[in-house]
Amino acid sequence: MNQQSGPSINAGGSGMGFGAPPPKQDTEYLCADCGAKNEIKSREPIRCRECGHRIMYKKRTKRMVQFEAR
Ligand SMILES: [Zn+2]
Repeated sequence: MNQQSGPSINAGGSGMGFGAPPPKQDTEYLCADCGAKNEIKSREPIRCRECGHRIMYKKRTKRMVQFEAR
């Protein structure tokens, strides 16, 4: 007689792939007041080094920033 006695195999789903965070990169901003270029890090507050203005425009980059919008 044939008896089926096999251990239950639990296949753990370990296929989660988290993308590595992007490297720290300075972002160039242009002062809205004097137009000076400022390289501001993400942690640093946005402020013009020349005149101290707090309104900065993000400089256009050649590379397109891709956001995964879902
Ligand atoms: Zn300025």
